[in-house]
Amino acid sequence: MPTSDDVSKKPLLAAIEAGGTKYVCAVGYDPEHPLEEVRFPTRAPGETLAEAIAFFETKADEYGPIAAMGIGTFGPAVIDPLSPDYGSILTTPKNGWAGFNVVSAIRSALGTQLPIVFDTDVNAAVLSEATFGAGMGRKHVAYITVGTGIGAAFIHDGKLLHGRLHPEVGHILIPDFDTAIGKNTNKCRFHTSCFEGRAAGPAIEERWGTAGNLLPEDHQAWDLEAEYLAAGCVTLTAVWSPDIIILGGGVSQKPGLLPKVRNEFEKQSGNYWALPPLKEYLTMAQLGQEAGIIGSLMLAKQALGETNG
Ligand code: ZN
Repeated sequence: MPTSDDVSKKPLLAAIEAGGTKYVCAVGYDPEHPLEEVRFPTRAPGETLAEAIAFFETKADEYGPIAAMGIGTFGPAVIDPLSPDYGSILTTPKNGWAGFNVVSAIRSALGTQLPIVFDTDVNAAVLSEATFGAGMGRKHVAYITVGTGIGAAFIHDGKLLHGRLHPEVGHILIPDFDTAIGKNTNKCRFHTSCFEGRAAGPAIEERWGTAGNLLPEDHQAWDLEAEYLAAGCVTLTAVWSPDIIILGGGVSQKPGLLPKVRNEFEKQSGNYWALPPLKEYLTMAQLGQEAGIIGSLMLAKQALGETNG
């Protein structure tokens, strides 16, 4: 429980890491140290938001009013605050979510004037990794998450890269390194051979008939996976020129995989770039599953206009 001292010090921040499979909600005064957190499966939008709102209402009763909220969402989503559709989820196969406006749903329950920054879950994760994790002290930080999908985000000169919508690195086209199988196991329904379609968790399971977490570390699946991840990192190096590439998400944590990715990167890049040692350049995320929610609390702080505070 809060002390009156805590409440008087800082405004209460709220955050949602709105993932495609799970929702994480948290409150805190300081992004790096969430006070309380709840996780539950992402279901239909009405049901999911009702559970999130109930959590925030309870926490507002305990800690006092919520001053601002940050939301790091699955995409694609409208994250341009000047768009009339700010807060909406776009094309998605997830039931009922296409066209649903998350920001409107939150504001109609918690206050129409509640300051909210709505961005992608991977943008939230890169913010926290760049500030508190593996990217501390670097100006240009790239982050790739490899799990049930693939996403990447970039901090250029200390600022998140957005663009017209937001980067969709999961759908960059990628060579088919899998010449042995004789069938197309690309799992993306939009593209013939894209990064996510080849290298995310569902693609590994489709290709080998076993989920990645059950495949042994010496299985050839990881040689193939390393080729795909290296190709993604080579492309990001070419287009973003980061100081560091951080790998997060469940698949990339597989023991032994990162050294294979570095070896493949060396082969594929042809030593074209003068890069830092690959052990430093291609590195593992440090904040684990907390990256998204800590980053979302940082977005809440941005919503308060306290990004430099
Ligand atoms: Zn695709």
